[in-house]
Amino acid sequence: MTEERSEQTERRCALVTGGSRGIGRAVAIALAKAGHPVMINYSGNIDAAEETAMLCATTDMDLPVFIEQTDVSDEESAIRLVKTAEEKLGHLDILVNNAGITRDGLILNMKTEDLEAVMDLNLKGTFYCCREAAKFMMRRRYGRIINMASIVGIRGNAGQTNYSASKAAVIGLTKSLAKELASRKITVNAIAPGYIDTDMTKKMSEKAIEATVKSIPLKRAGKPEEVGALAAFLASEEAAYITGQVIGVDGGMGA
Ligand code: NAP
Repeated sequence: MTEERSEQTERRCALVTGGSRGIGRAVAIALAKAGHPVMINYSGNIDAAEETAMLCATTDMDLPVFIEQTDVSDEESAIRLVKTAEEKLGHLDILVNNAGITRDGLILNMKTEDLEAVMDLNLKGTFYCCREAAKFMMRRRYGRIINMASIVGIRGNAGQTNYSASKAAVIGLTKSLAKELASRKITVNAIAPGYIDTDMTKKMSEKAIEATVKSIPLKRAGKPEEVGALAAFLASEEAAYITGQVIGVDGGMGA
């Protein structure tokens, strides 16, 4: 078998941060269904992580699936996570930076710690994982990096100055990194979900949910699986010519 052929037939391996629940879980399952060995990172919810691992494994009983507890907002821990993924999976080809939190409030009431917590995970955690994964991907001259942004990072949202700033920053990071890594055949894209039905959005009041759904052209919340499907496509060989893009999964909200 030529080197080129063995490269093509080799299974591409993936790390999904915040893969235990919600969108991250759907991304992990979609990647597993596409045949990618996967490491599911989580922060504290081991039961959810184990359930996601079980759902991934049922797509193919021989598929290597790992779970790894790590606080991605901590620099040393995030670096360790990526190194562990490279070691356990054999090679890290796909990185999905999905872990994210909200700490909503109007700016006059917002504590500095709410800004810091959101920036530390949503922006800095993404940055740390990208930087570490890029080292391995550059050596191999192949990679797919997918960052979970948000429509709020493009359009803004009252009550989410911290969160929208973090997601706008993720978009800037994505576009710059795409330019830095293109010569090594590494693509870097962002997904900008709109309103997706997960634990994160369950925290919203009934009134806010009603108003949000009303504002969506497709008149419904998105499903995590609808984001997972796009992530799996961006992670595929077929998406080789897509880089530096921000793609909405938002029922038309961002149109
Ligand atoms: P979610 O249901 O709240 O799940 C959050 C995930 O992140 C969980 O797996 C959680 O792990 C993990 N996590 C939290 N803090 C972490 C940390 N410090 N280190 C590592 N992992 C951590 O959220 P979601 O709605 O699926 O959102 C996923 C991503 O999509 C986020 O980046 C979010 O900003 C973005 N997004 C969501 C929506 C939406 O409508 N839901 C819209 C736009 C963008 P545990 O299970 O262990 O707690």
